[in-house]
Amino acid sequence: MPKMEPAEDCPGRYPARSPATDAAVDSGHPDGQESRLHFSPPEGFNMTYPNTQLLIDGQWRDALDGRSLPVHNPSTDAEIGRVAHAGIADLDLALAAAQRGFETWRKTPAIERAKIMRRAAALMRERAADIARLLTQEQGKPLPEAKMETLAAADIIEWFADEGLRVYGRIVPARNLAATQMVLKDPVGPVAAFTPWNFPINQVVRKAAAALATGCSILIKAAEETPAAPAALVRAFVDAGVPAGVIGLVYGTPAEISSYLIAHPVIRKITFTGSTPVGKQLAALAGQHMKRVTMELGGHAPVIVCEDADLALAVKVSAASKFRNAGQVCISPTRFLVHESVRSEFAEALARHAAGLKVGDGLADGTQMGPLANPRRVAAMTDLLKDAVARGATVAAGGERIGSAGNFFAPTVLTDVPLEARVLNEEPFGPVAAIRGFKTMDEAIAEANRLSFGLAGYAFTRSLKHAHLLAHELQVGMLYINQPAMPSAEMPFGGVKDSGYGTEGGPEALDAYLNTRAVTVMNV
Ligand code: NAD
Repeated sequence: MPKMEPAEDCPGRYPARSPATDAAVDSGHPDGQESRLHFSPPEGFNMTYPNTQLLIDGQWRDALDGRSLPVHNPSTDAEIGRVAHAGIADLDLALAAAQRGFETWRKTPAIERAKIMRRAAALMRERAADIARLLTQEQGKPLPEAKMETLAAADIIEWFADEGLRVYGRIVPARNLAATQMVLKDPVGPVAAFTPWNFPINQVVRKAAAALATGCSILIKAAEETPAAPAALVRAFVDAGVPAGVIGLVYGTPAEISSYLIAHPVIRKITFTGSTPVGKQLAALAGQHMKRVTMELGGHAPVIVCEDADLALAVKVSAASKFRNAGQVCISPTRFLVHESVRSEFAEALARHAAGLKVGDGLADGTQMGPLANPRRVAAMTDLLKDAVARGATVAAGGERIGSAGNFFAPTVLTDVPLEARVLNEEPFGPVAAIRGFKTMDEAIAEANRLSFGLAGYAFTRSLKHAHLLAHELQVGMLYINQPAMPSAEMPFGGVKDSGYGTEGGPEALDAYLNTRAVTVMNV
C-alpha cells in the first residue's frame, strides 16, 4: 500500500474557526463583508489531510533529496500538508519506469486494460467522499462540486476504457489485388502530462484515461498547489492493478520538469492544460523535439443573450455557470453580450443572484462559492476591477476581496464595461461577469470573435435561425445554446485559435495518443 502520512501540523478535527479566520473577522474590514463568509463545518468533521509523495515505478516515495513544498488551505491560509518535490534524479527514474511500463502496457490486450480501468473507476466511486474532502481542503471549491468532480472521473475512466476496445485499424482495397493494405493504430509511447490546480482530478483523468485506454504509459506532473486529489486518482489506478511504471506522478518546479521531460527521448507525446502563454512555450519546445502535442489553454467565453431569449433561463444558467469553482474554469462564461432590449433586466437579475450567494469555506454546509485557489487570483481580480472601474464600468455586485485571510473575493457583476477594459481582453479566471449591450447579431458575433481565444461560447435564443447562425459563425471549440456547459467524455473538449489544439473528449481524444501507420503486404 502507498504510504500517505497525515501532515504533522494537521489538526485531526476541523476547528470551528481557524486563528487566521478569526483574524479576518476581527479585522473590522470597513465594508463589513466578512459577515458574508460562511465558516461552520459539519459537526465532527474529520480534517485529516495527507502529505503527498511521488509515484515512481509503482512506489510511493519522497524525493531522493528529501525536498518538499508546503500545501495551503485557500480558505484559511493554513499550511495543511506537504508535497514531495522531484529533482532530475527522480525524473530519470520515473522516465526509465515509464519506458518499461509502456513495453508492458502496449502488449496488454485492450480488454484487460479496460478491466483494470473499470476497477479504478469503481474505486473512485467508493472513495468519492474522502477524495472530495481532500480536494476541497487544498483547492477551496464547495464539497458538492468536489464530489461531482470525483464521480465524473469515474464516468470518464469507464468511457475511455470502453472506447479503447474500439481502436480499430482498417483494410483498404489495394490497386494490386495481390497486396493487402492495412492501416494500423499503435500507442504513441510514454506521455508527459502537465495539469493545473482548478480541476485537480478532472484535468488529470482526461489525459490518464485516454493514455491508458490506448496502451500508452503516462508520467503526470500535477499542480503543486493541489497535490492530494490527483494522487488519490492515481492511487485508484494503482490499486486497480495498473502495472508499475505505466502511470507515474511527480511534483516540483514546473518549468524545470517540463523542459526536462519534453526534451527527453523517452517521451513521445506532451499534453498540457493551463494558460495560453505557458502553453505556447511548451508547444514550441515540443516542436523543437518533434513531439506530438495536445494543448487545452485559456478562454474568454462570450455569452450572447438574444432579444428572443428565454431570459429567466439565461439568468439561471449564466449565474450557476459563472460562479462555479469561483469562476476558475477555462470554459467559464466571462463576456456577457446582451441585446439592448433586455440588458438592464438581465444585469439586475444576475447582480441579485451574485449578491445572494453564500461565500465561505467549501467544507461548510451550504457554501455556494469557495475562496479563490491562491492569492495570485485575488491580486488579479483586484487589478482587473480597479482597471474596469477606472475606465468607466459600473459595479452592480461585489467588486472586492472579502476579509483579509483566505482568498475570498465577492461574486462580481460589472455593467457598461468599455471594450478596452482589461477584463474584456484578458482571461479573468475568477468570479467576475462583465456585461455589455449589443444591437445586431453581426455586432454580437464580431465582438465574440474579436479576441484570440476560442474555447467555449454560450448563447440564449428561441430562434432556430439565430442558433444556426451562431453555430456556424462563433469561433469556439465548444458552443452551448440554451443550456449550461455539459462536458462529457463522449463529446470533444478543446479549443480553437489561441485556446489550443487537440481535444480531450470523444473518439478524437484517443487519436491524439495513437500513431497511424500504413502497412502493405504483397503475397509472394
Ligand atoms: P501559470 O500560467 O503560471 O500556471 C498555469 C498552470 O501551468 C499551473 O498549473 C502551473 O503549474 C503550470 N505551469 C506554469 N508554468 C509551467 C511550465 N513552464 N511548465 C509546465 N507547467 C507550467 O499561472 P497560474 O497563476 O497558476 O494560473 C493563471 C492562469 O492560468 C489563469 O489566469 C488561467 O488563464 C490559466 N489557467 C488555465 C487553466 C485551464 O483550465 N485552462 C487552469 C489553470 C490556470
